[in-house]
Amino acid sequence: MSSKVHLKRKISPRVINGHPWIFNNEVGTIEGDPAPGQIVEVLTHDKKLVGKGYINPKSQIVVRLLTRDKNEVVNEDFFLRRIRECWEYRKRTGYIENCRLVFGEADSLPQLIIDKFNDYLVIQTLALGIDVWKPAIVKALKEIFNPKGIYERNDVPVRELEGLPQQKGFLSEPFDPKIIINENGLKFHVDLENGQKTGYFLDQQDNRRAVQHIVKNADVLGAFTYTGTFEIHAAHYGAKSVLGLDISENAVQQANRNAELNGVASICRFEVANAFDVLKQWVKDGRQYDVVMLDPPAFTKSRATIEKAITGYKEINLRGMKLVKPGGFLVTSSCTSLVQADLFLQIIDMAAKDVRRRIRQVSFQTQSGDHPIMRGLENTQYLKFLIIQVL
Ligand code: SAH
Repeated sequence: MSSKVHLKRKISPRVINGHPWIFNNEVGTIEGDPAPGQIVEVLTHDKKLVGKGYINPKSQIVVRLLTRDKNEVVNEDFFLRRIRECWEYRKRTGYIENCRLVFGEADSLPQLIIDKFNDYLVIQTLALGIDVWKPAIVKALKEIFNPKGIYERNDVPVRELEGLPQQKGFLSEPFDPKIIINENGLKFHVDLENGQKTGYFLDQQDNRRAVQHIVKNADVLGAFTYTGTFEIHAAHYGAKSVLGLDISENAVQQANRNAELNGVASICRFEVANAFDVLKQWVKDGRQYDVVMLDPPAFTKSRATIEKAITGYKEINLRGMKLVKPGGFLVTSSCTSLVQADLFLQIIDMAAKDVRRRIRQVSFQTQSGDHPIMRGLENTQYLKFLIIQVL
């Protein structure tokens, strides 16, 4: 008999309407003595089954639901079936060679992330209740993909909140974790072991193509370049010169190697710099570019510091706009999920007002479709990607 979590009578309809998280203040009683990580049944106050999920009494989110089907059993086979479904969705939407194969909650596999880089897979299990299924997940991946390698990138601080250690390593036979992927006809070195997050930001894969026309014959500045993906796309699409900046020495080295790999080393240059400082200085120096591209890391994960994030976005975009020649373009991203699209656009408007420039929106996009947005699940909509003409 599995343990049962009985919800209180008066709770928001969120859970009934499909949200997979049960907060601890929504729980009335727990029947049985479920061990942390175990699968439990969740019932309404009048004993109707809401679904089954994994419990962690230590977490604010006590249960994360895996299924709402009373006949579905959560076992090895469940993960094989679910991951097959994830793969079907990617194939149907055209994300095949490289893709986020599993995007957590949006794929009804809470806190599980799996990225596919051609024949290699990188996995993150960010909660206790999904971590215990790691062997089943690896087995399923081997069965579906027969991959050349599987790597675990669980060196993520959020695991500690779940009582899990930070760790990384092979989940298959060891292999060389420095691989090369193809994207939009270009090649990129990806370091699955030491790169940021899972090694590469797949969520911008469609947005990188969006700069195609505006960079023709342009002098381009890219800040927060990481391994140079946007910048190398710009060079490939016909930019005259491209300068990319990143604070990480390692990223800059890799960006230079990527430029060489694509035969654009004579157009692209990468430098180690703190973008906040350098952009401020270059505004003072009166530098001007045809296109400026910004893709900073998330500025906050907590509501408590959202004001700081807003200030950060305003600052950096204000400087970016000042560096754009009249009629040139600013390409700007935000991956802070708490700064939702409307707010991000408001910040951009404020920055434009401050620098007294009129702006025209060319396009406004989100993350690529292999990171699907589950409507009603706010955390799944996180990336904002905006191109504006700065008049
Ligand atoms: N555009 C990249 C992803 C950028 S991730 C891509 O598409 O792959 C954000 C990057 O910003 C990281 O590489 C990080 O090293 C860098 N970064 C963080 N703070 C910075 C700062 N103050 N100045 C410059 N780069 C910074």
